[in-house]
Amino acid sequence: MTATETAPLDQADTLTSVNPATGETLATYRIDDETAVRAAVAKARTAAATWGALTHAERKKHILRWGSKLVEKSDELCELIHAENGKPLDDAFLELMLALEHIKWAANNAEKVLKSRKVSPGAFMANFAAHLEYRPLGVVGIIGPWNYPVYTPNGSIAYALAAGNCVVFKPSEFSTGIGNFVAKAFAEANPELPDGVFVTLNGFGATGAALVKSGVDKLAFTGSSATGKKIMAAAAETLTPVLLECGGKDAVIVAADADIKAAADAVAWGATANSGQTCAGVERVYVDRSVADEFIAEVKRILTDIKPGSDAKASYGPMTMPSQIDIVRRHIEDALENGGKAVLGGPESVKGPYIDPVVLVDVDESSDAVCEETFGPTVTIRTVSGVDEAVELTNKSKYGLGSAVYSKKQGMEIARRLEVGCTSVNSVLSYAAISALPFGGVRESGIGRIHGAPGLLEFSRPHSIAEQRFTIPGMALLSYSRTDRTMKLLRKIVPFVHGRAK
Ligand code: NAD
Repeated sequence: MTATETAPLDQADTLTSVNPATGETLATYRIDDETAVRAAVAKARTAAATWGALTHAERKKHILRWGSKLVEKSDELCELIHAENGKPLDDAFLELMLALEHIKWAANNAEKVLKSRKVSPGAFMANFAAHLEYRPLGVVGIIGPWNYPVYTPNGSIAYALAAGNCVVFKPSEFSTGIGNFVAKAFAEANPELPDGVFVTLNGFGATGAALVKSGVDKLAFTGSSATGKKIMAAAAETLTPVLLECGGKDAVIVAADADIKAAADAVAWGATANSGQTCAGVERVYVDRSVADEFIAEVKRILTDIKPGSDAKASYGPMTMPSQIDIVRRHIEDALENGGKAVLGGPESVKGPYIDPVVLVDVDESSDAVCEETFGPTVTIRTVSGVDEAVELTNKSKYGLGSAVYSKKQGMEIARRLEVGCTSVNSVLSYAAISALPFGGVRESGIGRIHGAPGLLEFSRPHSIAEQRFTIPGMALLSYSRTDRTMKLLRKIVPFVHGRAK
């Protein structure tokens, strides 16, 4: 029985975590209702007085200790990720490694990005010192998905903590155990800190909805675009700012001069790893006509040997969320009904929680398999007449999260034409592994950025302080005491300063 079946209505008292490969119950959690949500936020608010007042160096020490604790407990954590999410142990370890990179980057760079600085006051305010300072927001509510249950929410958690905020985190109902494990590791690594610096809430969408309305200072959400829209609408009632990391329908462009073997290898992996349950996974490919046959044959050759499972040899695991299985099957059927051809697999590849790789070619561009997020180990490949058509079709999507370009000579040039948040050139998904690069999308893929300096700024409040250091007689511009002489002088100076561009 799945967690959803155990508690189909958000009113149930408990949430059952199950192994998606076996259906075995892993643990049962009490669902946090609105009262519990408010209590958690109040606890975090109290802790914020301490955490927010620490120096960057002090916070860095605590955050890095948390990273070390996760390393110490990595075997246990990876086993839990494997059991609760289904992904292979090696993939669980890689996910943890990437999360650790971000934890370290956020801790090490918060001071540099957020330190107080003086900025130029400008010619007319020369008697002022202009201070730009960054303050924590206070309490950040974070709602996460289940597909990368450590890495993905950590893109908000580590950066929010490093910017001096306390965090109230509601993990997905499909990764409750993992979310609690990660927060507990923070508390274990930092016993001297007050309770409430980083706390979790357990539950379904209703618990998340209560967190949105709880009075947090910012709500960082990662999940589907549909839920993102609901969260933004609910947050609008209190003008709570939101950071939304939503879905994608990412394309790979394979140009005529691409290294075809490398492109096929990356597409095969990017489309099926993690059972295709990757927000920035490869869902569409646009390949130049001159190399299409060779490319498609190579993708098919690689994926023919790739099999899902739960054993040590499996390339990827089961579908984590049972309801997604029907969506994947529907997209495959829809593609075939609309003129597409399966060169590998088909509807029969959907075998219970496991889905074998499916490669679809020449699928109608208006079908769900091309327009909607499939979130399964499938890929559509379309032959195009050249780079211009590939760029046009890539940009046509309502999503705009990641993308990739394979070209020996024009990689950067093509990348710059894509209307998306992130692009890998001659690789896939690499931007997500580089901590200094911000991650996020455009259009229905979301609002705002996690990771890198922009990821720290998302969780900070700029505080501008204009300090008058001395007065200039007669030059009191922000006062009724300014003189006619001053205004005459300004009328002479303004054209000199602003009116000389030709
Ligand atoms: P989802 O939208 O179903 O759920 C995400 C979270 O929102 C869960 O914790 C859920 O309990 C909560 N939630 C549901 N309804 C809510 C409501 N009304 N108010 C507040 N919270 C609510 O998404 P999912 O199935 O968990 O995750 C898969 C989706 O996440 C895919 O679309 C994927 O592309 C996206 N994703 C995006 C990124 C990114 O960084 N852009 C990363 C990973 C996953």
